[in-house]
Amino acid sequence: MIQNLLSMKVNTSQIFSVNKSCKVKEFKHETVTKEELGRSAWTVLHLITGQYPEEPDAADKKNIDIFFKLFAQYYPCKECGSHFYKMLQENPIKANSREELMRYLCALHNKVNKRLHKPQYNCDLVKSKWSDCGCDSNIDVDA
Ligand SMILES: Cc1cc2nc3c(=O)[nH]c(=O)nc-3n(C[C@H](O)[C@H](O)[C@H](O)COP(=O)(O)OP(=O)(O)OC[C@H]3O[C@@H](n4cnc5c(N)ncnc54)[C@H](O)[C@@H]3O)c2cc1C
Repeated sequence: MIQNLLSMKVNTSQIFSVNKSCKVKEFKHETVTKEELGRSAWTVLHLITGQYPEEPDAADKKNIDIFFKLFAQYYPCKECGSHFYKMLQENPIKANSREELMRYLCALHNKVNKRLHKPQYNCDLVKSKWSDCGCDSNIDVDA
């Protein structure tokens, strides 16, 4: 089943055009702030890059590209998601190895940091900070 999903053709260029009529609203959840949402989201994204294969095949590279774009589309803060999607378009994904992907995401996160006047993060540190989540990356999802 997973293989069927992964082989689906997703037209990511249309992702935001389908929502053209929606106005971007300020994120305003009763209990979750934009900042809390952001911290959690970056944690998930960086940890995912830390579990990405050291030697990805063509499917891995395609799937992570689609995943980031879908993540941007469905991100609950629409203003943040549309900025992120624009960044993904302007900075094509670099996913030829785990380290390359980790550094790529670090650079994107730094672009967001810059826009929000936050300090730049040293991307030499991403590997030690975001690699080990104690997860078993060899789980067979079809089992
Ligand atoms: C995709 C996305 C887009 C966003 N867009 C917006 C937006 O447009 N407007 C807005 O107001 N907020 C946006 N946010 C939220 C914003 O980026 C922060 O998450 C939020 O302001 C909380 O910031 P923070 O200082 O706690 O640390 P965060 O930026 O959330 O970072 C969490 C932790 O990651 C580490 N870290 C920091 N920088 C890096 C890096 N470059 N690489 C690796 N690790 C790093 C640090 O240890 C830090 O404590 C976005 C979040 C995401 C996930």
